Parts: sequence; C-alpha cells; structure tokens
Amino acid sequence: MSKRALVTGGAGFLGSHLCERLLSEGVEVICMDNLLTGNLDNLSDLWGKDGFHFIKQDVTEYIHIPGSLDYILHFASPASPIDYQMLPIQTLKVGSLGTHKALGLAKEKNARFLLASTSETYGDPLVHPQPETYWGNVNPVGPRGVYDEAKRFAEAMTMGYHRFHGVDTRIVRIFNTYGPRMRLEDGRVLPAFMSQALRGEPMTVFGDGSQTRSFCYVDDLIEGILRLLRSDEVLPTNIGNPSEMTILQFAEKVRELCGSKSEICFKELPEDDPKIRQPDITKAKEVLGWEPKVSLDEGLRRTLDYFRQKVGGTEKS
Ligand code: UDP
Repeated sequence: MSKRALVTGGAGFLGSHLCERLLSEGVEVICMDNLLTGNLDNLSDLWGKDGFHFIKQDVTEYIHIPGSLDYILHFASPASPIDYQMLPIQTLKVGSLGTHKALGLAKEKNARFLLASTSETYGDPLVHPQPETYWGNVNPVGPRGVYDEAKRFAEAMTMGYHRFHGVDTRIVRIFNTYGPRMRLEDGRVLPAFMSQALRGEPMTVFGDGSQTRSFCYVDDLIEGILRLLRSDEVLPTNIGNPSEMTILQFAEKVRELCGSKSEICFKELPEDDPKIRQPDITKAKEVLGWEPKVSLDEGLRRTLDYFRQKVGGTEKS
C-alpha cells in the first residue's frame, strides 16, 4: 500500500519540488497552500496526476484530512526577507499556530512530522561554519525577528510534541537554496541578480558585497530532506551546500553565466543582514550519507533556463 503525505506550503518553491519528488516515488500527495506566496503555476506538471490532490487552506486554521497520513512535511511560510517583512504577522502565525495545527494533525494521524526550519535560527552567526549545536545570535526585535523567532519557536514546539506526546518528528535547517520556481520578484539574491542580468539592468549588491552565503541547488536539498525524513534523526540537521562565496562574487558569476553586460551597483545593506553563512554538514554526511552533488555552474545553468522563460525574452544585453 502506498504512503500518503501532506505537504503544507506545497505550491511554494521548495514545497512544489517536494510534492513532485514524493509523487514520482509513488507517494500519494496532499498539497496544502493558501497561495499567499505560493503559486499554482508551480504545480502545473502535477495537476491531474494520479495520487495528487490540492487543498487551498491556511494551515493556521483547523485542518481536517479524511483518511490516514504517513508523513506531514510542514513547509508553509513566507521565506524571503522581503516577503516576511511585508507579511510579519502571517509569518509569525504560520510558524507558531500553523506548526501547532500541523503537529496536532501528526499526533492524531500517527504520522511522521518534518519541520522546514532554517539557517536563520543561527541569526548573524558568531560561529563559522554553523554546526547544529550552535544556538545562534538572533535579534528578536529586528526586521528578521518575525521569521527567525517563528522558526525557533516552531523547532521548540516540534521538540515539545516529540518529548511530551511521542510524535515522530524531524527538523531540517535549510540553508540558501536556489533553482527553478523561485519567484522573480521575491527579493532573494538569485532571482534579483538573474532577472537584472537578463534584462541588462544594474545588479543591486547590498553593502559592499563582502557578506557570504553558500548556495545549494534545489534537487540536492530535496534529496537531503527525503533522506532525513526516512532516517531516525530527531534533532535538527543542516542541509545545504558548504561552498561559500561573497555576494559580490556571486553577482559576477551570475552576470558571466547570463552573458550580460549589466553594471554592478551598491545599495544599503539591510539591517541585521548576516555577514557570513556556511553550513557545517558533517552530521548530514555521517547520519544520512548525504552531500550535495550539483556544482554551482550546473545548478545556475538549469536555473537560467527557467528564468529566461519567465523574463520572457526581454534580455537587452
Ligand atoms: N542581496 C543583495 N542584493 C539583492 C538581494 C540580496 O546583495 O538584490 C544580498 C543580501 O543582502 C544578503 C544576500 O544577498 O546578504 C542573500 O540575500 P537573500 O535575500 O537571498 O537571503 P538571506 O540569505 O539574506 O536570507
């Protein structure tokens, strides 16, 4: 008998890739999304496929799913800094009330629960690279606090349900991820740079561009998440690509790949923007036998195909 999974935030960037991968492995998928930042276009390949169902619902409201559930993957949340600063209350609610509802459902259905957490739990880190044992350096009242603290609360709530109710839980801390289906206008660095480079517009590097990030291609991330789901590891696990670079280097890389002549312009660095970020993936390697396989060049090429279509031939350079 095939397994049944509920994916909250299933019409989002990561959620839709997860739905697709689970379905391809023969898992029946119930995709739930309120379409606040998710988009039905992300599900166009799945629509009408056997075993795929969509429910338009806000996960902070009472969830009723008839029948059994084996897995609940809680991916609903605004996730880009621009989105969560424009939707601060919704972000806090989905991380707290939404996680509570999804955990309650997991308890009721005896389902395994996986929380999509984030490298933002480490804040502007004072330890580098970041291992799971680092407790972080988060400003609770800064502009990122609504996301960071919602996810930290969600982790605490998940461990509460695990320890008190015996719910079978997993927590993945997701680092910067990129790939097809990111929203052009979500404000994250890859969609911003790629659409600017394709249009020949100035590429907006924040600060002096010396802050670092480590970018993981979406297929690698999904593989890591599914390995974690099927493992016995209850405590948080980092999934990300440790190859770190400065944002200025990233801008130059994207520009070169797009064959663009865009200039690079420097804008003010947003408040509390983490200065460094790199996952320590020792645990994922040891416990899950996982490490990323797709190089940045290859991942960016695959992503470029998608962005070229979305930008719609308005390339000037
Ligand atoms: N960034 C940038 N230009 C942009 C968008 C982002 O220089 O147009 C920088 C941002 O300041 C941060 C990094 O790129 O240092 C990654 O930003 P993103 O919003 O993708 O995610 P974050 O890792 O900060 O959550």
